[in-house]
Amino acid sequence: MDPQRSPLLEVKGNIELKRPLIKAPSQLPLSGSRLKRRPDQMEDGLEPEKKRTRGLGATTKITTSHPRVPSLTTVPQTQGQTTAQKVSKKTGPRCSTAIATGLKNQKPVPAVPVQKSGRASGVPPMAGGKKPSKRPAWDLKGQLCDLNAELKRCRERTQTLDQENQQLQDQLRDAQQQVKALGTERTTLEGHLAKVQAQAEQGQQELKNLRACVLELEERLSTQEGLVQELQKKQVELQEERRGLTSQLEEKERRLQTSEAALSSSQAEVASLRQETVAQAALLTEREERLHGLEMERRRLHNQLQELKGNIRVFCRVRPVLPGEPTPPPGLLLFPSGPGGPSDPPTRLSLSRSDERRGTLSGAPAPPTRHDFSFDRVFPPGSGQDEVFEEIAMLVQSALDGYPVCIFAYGQTGSGKTFTMEGGPGGDPQLEGLIPRALRHLFSVAQELSGQGWTYSFVASYVEIYNETVRDLLATGTRKGQGGECEIRRAGPGSEELTVTNARYVPVSCEKEVEALLHLARQNRAVARTAQNERSSRSHSVFQLQISGEHSSRGLQCGAPLSLVDLAGSERLDPGLALGPGERERLRETQAINSSLSTLGLVIMALSNKESHVPYRNSKLTYLLQNSLGGSAKMLMFVNISPLEENVSESLNSLRFASKVNQCVIGTAQANRK
Ligand code: ADP
Ligand code: MG
Repeated sequence: MDPQRSPLLEVKGNIELKRPLIKAPSQLPLSGSRLKRRPDQMEDGLEPEKKRTRGLGATTKITTSHPRVPSLTTVPQTQGQTTAQKVSKKTGPRCSTAIATGLKNQKPVPAVPVQKSGRASGVPPMAGGKKPSKRPAWDLKGQLCDLNAELKRCRERTQTLDQENQQLQDQLRDAQQQVKALGTERTTLEGHLAKVQAQAEQGQQELKNLRACVLELEERLSTQEGLVQELQKKQVELQEERRGLTSQLEEKERRLQTSEAALSSSQAEVASLRQETVAQAALLTEREERLHGLEMERRRLHNQLQELKGNIRVFCRVRPVLPGEPTPPPGLLLFPSGPGGPSDPPTRLSLSRSDERRGTLSGAPAPPTRHDFSFDRVFPPGSGQDEVFEEIAMLVQSALDGYPVCIFAYGQTGSGKTFTMEGGPGGDPQLEGLIPRALRHLFSVAQELSGQGWTYSFVASYVEIYNETVRDLLATGTRKGQGGECEIRRAGPGSEELTVTNARYVPVSCEKEVEALLHLARQNRAVARTAQNERSSRSHSVFQLQISGEHSSRGLQCGAPLSLVDLAGSERLDPGLALGPGERERLRETQAINSSLSTLGLVIMALSNKESHVPYRNSKLTYLLQNSLGGSAKMLMFVNISPLEENVSESLNSLRFASKVNQCVIGTAQANRK
């Protein structure tokens, strides 16, 4: 077997080869023309042909070749049938059937040769299957002769058929052997075929599995292809992004380079600036030194100026006539211009008073007496708050330089003392008084001086002195509006500093805080006013600001009090009034006020005369203000005047008191330097 060929092909090839062999046995009894014979069989097959051509005997012999059948037909019908029946009995049913079939299918052929041989042997010929004509009954010899010949032919024929039979049996044996061999081969082939089929089935199963595998792989492949496409898309996107980023990076690098260049030039600039700074710092130190020297010089000169102006100054302020008040007669108050003419700030005031008690001899009213006064400054009714403050701003600044400063408002009730010190009603900034303006000025100058190394702190207190009792105007909570027990004491044993017990001392650093304190003081006064009629006009209000300055790098310190005092009404009690219980109380109040105001005058006098004893202790007011009055202190007194004719007498008294004060000169002020 060819090892290269598949088992199936091999089987097929075998079948192709064997086919004639398988067919052969089934056709053996049939016509010899369809049976291929081996060479030895061929010899036998050819035998009858030869015999047929040789003689009569050959024509009767049954062969598998084609011409055998016609030879059978030459036999008379009855004999042929008999012979056939005999053969059939000898060869078996199968062979007889085959022969019968062969006989049936063959057309009868005229037995010409038989007739010829019959003639030659003297036997009457039988033409066309016709029976030989019968011998006459009398020809017994002839009939016997015919029967002998017939017998002889039958014997020969029997012999031939025997041989034929023998031959056919051999062939049958061969064929059976062949069948057996083929059966074996078939079994083998069937086994082989089964194996091959099993293999084929296995192959098909494998093929099926492989197909499933292939399907799965194809599916995976398509998934992978999808993934690959997605990745490719992503890659394209990323490449795009990368390109964008690269260009951004390039741009940033360019910028960085520019920045680096700028930085290096800036660094160079910084280095040069540093050098410059060092030089500037040296210069600054030198300038600071000079500035400090100049500042000290300024303070000295400022003080000299203040001293030249006088340590005690008196300003006169005349309030305007208020709506509803009677217009004063012309010439009641005159403001003559100074030596420098009308452009000079007024310093003089003339008050004309007609004394009704004094009459001329003729009985005509005496001409009004004119009283001339001269002060450091006179403010006529039209003067604004800012104008007034401008004059005292420099004085207030002295407090920062370490000189105690005390400003009084003196005058009768309703002359404008509170208006001057605290301001007008309604919180109009234009009407703000000296206290808020002075504090604002101090805060702003302190801020400027901080640039020169000075640090300032301010502590405020606000008390009123009524009938020689001290009350805190900044009291809050339960003490609000109550006349709490306050005493003036020294801050410590041997200390010059005075403090009011039970009074609030509030640190302040801005205008708002001061405003809140003034508001609180007004509230406290209002509560007191309901309890005691118009007490505020008969009490002294003392606003004190303790200023502390420090120049830490130079180890310098300075501190001084700034006192702003709204004095009680200076009016005297009308001696003609009946002395009822209310008036008596009023008289007592007035006496207390007068006593304290005269004590103030006395103190100023004593200081002016440099007397050894200054009667500070004679009143609570002078006692509280003693540190703001003596020695190095600078004092300013506003004498407030009513423009009304009815107040002329009191105005005159006030102006006289102020004039006395104005004549005083308190020694050279010394700054409180430590
Ligand atoms: P005093 O405190 O001396 O009793 P006030 O300050 O209360 O007097 O003033 C009395 C009235 O006069 C108040 O209504 C006040 O507003 C008003 N007044 C005082 N001075 C002036 C002024 N310079 N300009 C306008 N009004 C003033
Ligand atoms: Mg007042």
